[in-house]
Amino acid sequence: MTTRLPVMFIGHGSPLTAFEDNQFTRGWTALVKDIKPRAVLCISAHWCTHGTGVTAMTAPRTIHDFGGFPDALYQFQYPAPGDPQLAQQVVELLSPLNVVPDHQWGLDHGCWAVMKHLFPMADVPVVQLSIDMNHNSQWHYNLGKQLAPLRHEDILIIGSGNVVHNLGQLDFSDSGKIFPWAKLFNDHIRRAIESRNYQQVIDYQQGDEALRQAALLSVPTADHYFPLLYVLGASDGNDVINVVLDDIVLGSIAMMSVKLG
Ligand code: ZN
Repeated sequence: MTTRLPVMFIGHGSPLTAFEDNQFTRGWTALVKDIKPRAVLCISAHWCTHGTGVTAMTAPRTIHDFGGFPDALYQFQYPAPGDPQLAQQVVELLSPLNVVPDHQWGLDHGCWAVMKHLFPMADVPVVQLSIDMNHNSQWHYNLGKQLAPLRHEDILIIGSGNVVHNLGQLDFSDSGKIFPWAKLFNDHIRRAIESRNYQQVIDYQQGDEALRQAALLSVPTADHYFPLLYVLGASDGNDVINVVLDDIVLGSIAMMSVKLG
């Protein structure tokens, strides 16, 4: 009997979440309660490139790729090992695409802020795959499809981003207000995922006027949205779909997290 691991999309929100204990972080931890993968392949919103890269070092550094946060965030280290063998597997799986083994990057906060809660001992190797921003959503979804065989090899594929991510519209008033366009877009994407209408997730910019406007505001840049497409691509009709978290914080950040499998 072959087993395969689920795939997960995690809405990561603020870097501060790495140090919090709240409904989101507890929800993330619960996702891997019965899972101890050989390694994690993480597609993080915070590694956007021209061309596709895969981290291939044995000891990826912890990258503090943010500004204006408390000192503790800059001191934090997530010393999970890399997995050059997995990096090589990714290169081969995605061939003839030229995926470049990378020795400069490491683990950015889109990755470690989540991994800290999933595997706090940092004892599961982590490899990151970059997002080539020169391509459209269909292309990223298709790349996710090519990664699917890794699920049979004890590799946990995680996309880390946010379905709605508009930093320009953040509401820090703590009013609990959610922008109507954020809610409209978030719920549209949730319905599309739960009904397995992935083409609608890929074609997120299409729809009636209200939806198109909502998409423009919810996904002003696609970096936080694309990781979801990799995860859906690596999924198929046999996966049970479980939206484990679905909240919008600060008015315009969707924390929706989904487990498939
Ligand atoms: Zn982010």
